[in-house]
Amino acid sequence: MIVELVSTGTELLLGQIVNTNAPFLAAQLNELGFSVLYQTTVGDNRERMKNVLRTALARADIVITSGGLGPTQGDITKEVTASLLNKSMYFHEPSAERIQRYFAERRICMSDNNLRQAMMPEGAKIIDNTCGTAPGVIVEDQTSGKIIINLPGPPHELSAMFETSIMPYLKNQFGIQGAIVSRVLRTYGLGESALEEKIKKYILSQSNPTLALLARNGEIHVRITARAASEIDALQLITELEGQIRPLINEYIFGIDDETLEKSVSKLLLEKELTIALAESCTGGLVTSRITDVPGSSRYLIGSVICYSNEVKVAHVGVSAEIIASNGAVSQETAESMAKGIKEKYCTSIGIGITGIAGPDGATADKPVGLVYIAIEGPAGRVCYQHYFNGNRTDVKHRTALAALNHLRH
Ligand code: ATP
Ligand code: MG
Repeated sequence: MIVELVSTGTELLLGQIVNTNAPFLAAQLNELGFSVLYQTTVGDNRERMKNVLRTALARADIVITSGGLGPTQGDITKEVTASLLNKSMYFHEPSAERIQRYFAERRICMSDNNLRQAMMPEGAKIIDNTCGTAPGVIVEDQTSGKIIINLPGPPHELSAMFETSIMPYLKNQFGIQGAIVSRVLRTYGLGESALEEKIKKYILSQSNPTLALLARNGEIHVRITARAASEIDALQLITELEGQIRPLINEYIFGIDDETLEKSVSKLLLEKELTIALAESCTGGLVTSRITDVPGSSRYLIGSVICYSNEVKVAHVGVSAEIIASNGAVSQETAESMAKGIKEKYCTSIGIGITGIAGPDGATADKPVGLVYIAIEGPAGRVCYQHYFNGNRTDVKHRTALAALNHLRH
């Protein structure tokens, strides 16, 4: 079965938003065994959208659109779909009631144009939107047997609708049997190609389960996907393959599926009954923020100081002005003194000091943008890591936070 994805929205063409719906749908559909051969993006223009849909329908069995189901005049996807398939639009009472209820429950005054969302192509299957107002639709063309599915643009609405309604529909319609299960091994510390090199043999030879590498926000995810008659059988296949590749990359794996670096740090600190405090300079509190993303972090996180200026490093963390004067604010000595100072200030088992140059200015001949020191003062002594991170200011801050969390695991 061939599927074509059509992303609609002029803001996508203008580069104002990044298209995350198409990759999400492509990954899901591939896992289900569909072939996604084309992906197109088109603006909110009737004629161009109709042409794109016509072309898509000529070379695919199923066309899935995203966006343009909302209440405004620019939201035209359903109308264009209906017009291409020679269907008229009608007012779908239950959808109108649902939309009215959605607004009433949230005490929001509904404008009349919201009821445009209840206009549906004749004969369409209406898909409830559990996270928003615009229903999705599945339109089957009786003559060709082809299908156009219109999904809403907001990513959380689209993914919820795909998982709860579209996936079961496709499985049922195309007799997809059995289970498809994925497990993600989340790694940090080794680049994508180096990681691939280590498990290449398995990537090349596996067909079920399949192995795929995905770079995600500085982490590399190794996704194992298996198909089998039942979920238990699929999990068995995944576990077998994981057992083979784990010894090759184990030191880089910090979590499985939705286990973040901060979650794995949390587990470790709780296990060892350790407490921590942070003195953050160039990260501006980012590491602390990530640590507090984990529920229950108050059991080990005692406190943080964002010590951006030298004065605050001295007055609130206890770094000596002398150390800063002779080594610079961005130095191993200052980072170590920050870690020691914050540990003593808050009487914790671990203190962390982070100082660096996030850029774009502040660099000197021997201290480039991206130079970062992360010092950890813990029960086993003191360590300080020196990094040279690439990228812009946001990248350097983000990479520093990842590295700091990763160092905490070791
Ligand atoms: P709404 O009811 O919110 O108008 P809609 O179904 O009409 O939803 P659009 O108007 O096309 O969808 O898009 C609404 C918002 O959803 C966009 O402003 C954007 O934030 C997000 N969005 C739309 N398409 C995509 C996409 N392909 N990838 C990521 N985000 C998207
Ligand atoms: Mg819209």
